[in-house]
Amino acid sequence: MSYDNVEVPDDGNAITVDEDTGELAVPSNPIIPIIYGDGIGTDVAPAAQQVLDAAAEATGRSIEWMRLYAGESARERYDENLPDETVEAIREHRVAIKGPLTTPVGSGFRSLNVALRKRLDLYANVRPTYHLEGVPSPVKNPEKMDMVNFRENTEDVYAGIEWEAGTDEVEQVREFVEEEMGETGVIHDGPVGIGIKPISEFGSKRLIREAIDYAIENDRDSVTLVHKGNIMKFTEAAFRDWGYELAAEEYGDEVITEDTLWEEYDGEAPEGAVVVKDRIADNMLQQLLTRTEQYDVLAMPNLNGDYLSDAAGAQIGGLGIAPGANLGDGRVLAEPVHGSAPKYAGEDKVNPTAMILSGRIMLEQLGWDDAADLIRDAVETTISAGEVTYDLHRQIEGGTKLATSEYADAVCARIEELS
Ligand code: NAP
Repeated sequence: MSYDNVEVPDDGNAITVDEDTGELAVPSNPIIPIIYGDGIGTDVAPAAQQVLDAAAEATGRSIEWMRLYAGESARERYDENLPDETVEAIREHRVAIKGPLTTPVGSGFRSLNVALRKRLDLYANVRPTYHLEGVPSPVKNPEKMDMVNFRENTEDVYAGIEWEAGTDEVEQVREFVEEEMGETGVIHDGPVGIGIKPISEFGSKRLIREAIDYAIENDRDSVTLVHKGNIMKFTEAAFRDWGYELAAEEYGDEVITEDTLWEEYDGEAPEGAVVVKDRIADNMLQQLLTRTEQYDVLAMPNLNGDYLSDAAGAQIGGLGIAPGANLGDGRVLAEPVHGSAPKYAGEDKVNPTAMILSGRIMLEQLGWDDAADLIRDAVETTISAGEVTYDLHRQIEGGTKLATSEYADAVCARIEELS
């Protein structure tokens, strides 16, 4: 494909997918698209790039970066927020990384992040939440947290099906609902906005399948389906029921339910079996704090996943640390959990760890586990030595406060030492 505003690196080869296995085929010098993003994206993305380059080089590889544009940087070049060639370049190159993109609240354009995930069918948002030694935390035992959250990315109230108060569409939906539900007053009189929450068998099962596959491949103990099915019976409860159905249909002895665990195994899971259980979302939010170590892999619809992963992120040091990635079939778009924090934009101040560790997930997806582990160890030793950005510095005694770029230099120096 030829591009208007994108420079394709001369060196480097494209990542492809093996037609037979569906696995990524990764050269040692892949072309990787990167979107710096809005606000602090221009601070954290170059820092992450520098660290990822150092880890690739230390393990005998290289990354050939291809800069793409979305949000403000796209408006400057294309006069639109999400140019087709940005989406197509990610589709073609399969594995990419992005910084945060600003979404206006209420009015203005819809979320570019949601649009990217939907257009590329990146249906699983994966957020590993683990504690790095030395990272200050508001809880007493942050090391108990070692979870991987799988959040459905394409449906739920995020599907973008909603109508503004005062429109004809709202009146049509109001009439339909009142006719169907057989009672008036379900929706209050006067101005009302209405949104729709689709949760499908297809969307739920493919997300939960990713979570169970991950648990089996990574020797995890359990997958917890997090839902609000006591209230939303045909959406959230259906998500749970489809999860149990999938576990029974596709996994045989590899997976057992929590009921079976207690009825047949007295609470001791057989060697290698993954336990599938479910929790109501509000209870799950308190269990994150009170019974942290009992949870492992979580699978949830879009909104629950959004809330829960920020809450879990807080326990291991906050948004400056929490990484993520969006996965589809043969496609990866890594991105930190945090947003564009506009008040800090361009100040060379914020913590790039979340973006660096998102890059680490990307490297794991490439099968570069040695480079990924090197990054984890380098970040951990840097933070343990008290070399941190402002967000962690304000929570620890002593320590050296570093700028974003200085912190990236410090992590790269550790990579060199450790390799
Ligand atoms: P935010 O940008 O994540 O920032 C909230 C606060 O979190 C910051 O003020 C800062 O706290 C802390 N923080 C975030 N990133 C940090 C980092 N790298 N290092 C240190 N501290 C960090 O959330 P927001 O202000 O709610 O959202 C701003 C914009 O980002 C919105 O337009 C939103 O839609 C968008 N957003 C985008 C994504 C995405 O691109 N995937 C995700 C979430 C939000 P302190 O001020 O206390 O230091």
